[in-house]
Amino acid sequence: MNYKVFARKWRPKKFCEVVGQLHVVKAIIHSLNLNRMHHAYIFTGTRGSGKTTIARLFAKGLNCETQITSDVCGSCKNCSDIESGCFIDLIEIDAASKSKVEDTRSFLDNVQYSPSQGKFKVYLIDEVHMLSRHSFNALLKTLEEPPKHVKFILVTTEYQKLPETILSRCLQFYFKPLNIIQIVTQLKYICNQENINIDTENSLEFLAYAARGSIRDALNLLEQAMILGKNNITIDVINSMLGLLHIEHALSLIESLTNGNINKIMNQIDNYSILGINWDYLFEEILIVLQKIAIYQFSPHSLKNQISIVEIKDIEKRMHKLSDFISPENVQLYYQIFLLGRRELSYAPSHRIGMEMTMLRALAFCPVNLDSKSEQYYNSENTSNKEEVCKNFSKKNVTQLININKYTDSISDKKQQIQNNFNNVTHTEKIKNIQDLTNVSGSKLEKLQLSLTNQAVINNKIISSNSKIRPQYPISHVTSEILDARNKLIKYQRDYKQSMLTKTKSNINTQDEQGLEDILRRFTNIDVKISKDGDIHNKKK
Ligand SMILES: [Zn+2]
Repeated sequence: MNYKVFARKWRPKKFCEVVGQLHVVKAIIHSLNLNRMHHAYIFTGTRGSGKTTIARLFAKGLNCETQITSDVCGSCKNCSDIESGCFIDLIEIDAASKSKVEDTRSFLDNVQYSPSQGKFKVYLIDEVHMLSRHSFNALLKTLEEPPKHVKFILVTTEYQKLPETILSRCLQFYFKPLNIIQIVTQLKYICNQENINIDTENSLEFLAYAARGSIRDALNLLEQAMILGKNNITIDVINSMLGLLHIEHALSLIESLTNGNINKIMNQIDNYSILGINWDYLFEEILIVLQKIAIYQFSPHSLKNQISIVEIKDIEKRMHKLSDFISPENVQLYYQIFLLGRRELSYAPSHRIGMEMTMLRALAFCPVNLDSKSEQYYNSENTSNKEEVCKNFSKKNVTQLININKYTDSISDKKQQIQNNFNNVTHTEKIKNIQDLTNVSGSKLEKLQLSLTNQAVINNKIISSNSKIRPQYPISHVTSEILDARNKLIKYQRDYKQSMLTKTKSNINTQDEQGLEDILRRFTNIDVKISKDGDIHNKKK
């Protein structure tokens, strides 16, 4: 009848037995040794990271009968009472069940009385973020200036829910999730002590991975595996206990999604439903996988693999492969879609429908990764490559590709047309008299106007469809051409007037003069128009 579960039996009894959290343990040991203790602490971090354990050790250090010390004896009455949970001056309050202001007031009424057994009264308030607003307000005054014999330790998993006024009155310690190596080391030690046989270290790593940073979860899993395997922990036992890793579910769903295999997706969802999977948890895993894929795409070296499990290595390999296949934009899009799907899960008729609709939404927005493939298609110059790309697509996608093909062809036709126009425009003509100038300038003007309009139309189309293809002659180029021509004309006009002053007789008739003025006027107009267009173009950029 004296059997204690591992999580309680192997709870550290001294500071030196604590796994991880060195930054917290060090600070508390120093403050105990120097006898400089703050009156209020906040311990925050994920579940099973050692918050309550260290809070109790702190209470031991304060109340050990030897002295205030970090090296608790563990054998005196106070130490053993704290361990067994019957020390009268360690008051543990569960804020989740006692969140009302009346509850808070009732324990605050007793704060002023001296401790009855030890040297300090330690108030350990668990899940403190669950307290009501009035409870926090009632706590403020005492938390700021408590009696000398009182210490507060507020424990929470969600410190961001605490009011600023509470946070500023406390010393805050953040507890990190334990890494796999730390958990495996502790599990190995316990297996040795408990005479549990393990086939390879891999099985312990598997357990540690499934515990997701929580030593308590890891110990519970170890106990479960020990009972199932009758004191022998093997990979087979772990596999039958944990089933597939949850991340495997998420990964294979994303693989089917990128293949656009709707039947497979529906089958998988059906299977998961039979397994009784937690859909919210599956959403979370999908988001984690997408995040890892995104990191693979941008900085593959930052994902250092600290575990040696063969199965997990295989999973990493598959994620790496996916990161080559999905474009970064689509990874971001999927992430958004699944994030939204998870948020709206509670509104869905059932969680399964929520998952199905999110999958279909992801499919609807990214039809078989067409974007990345068509990019590849755009860039490919030779036809053999084009055919190769086309082969990888279903019929429907091939028709889409053909449409794109037609579109790019029409674009290249127009580009050729523009080029021809420009060749004509830049062609040099000899000007013998003012009549030639009028003719040449007139034709130049028309051609420039024509090419300019074409350019603008195509430009708009190209900008809206694919920013990668740009015409060879941007509008700014045309503008400078025309302005250049206009400057030359103005110079010619000035020279012409100069010559008119010196010459009394003129062979230029009024018709020629009018023609020249007309050209100049039209060029001035065009100047305004172009710079306007140019502005619009620039804005679009
Ligand atoms: Zn003691």
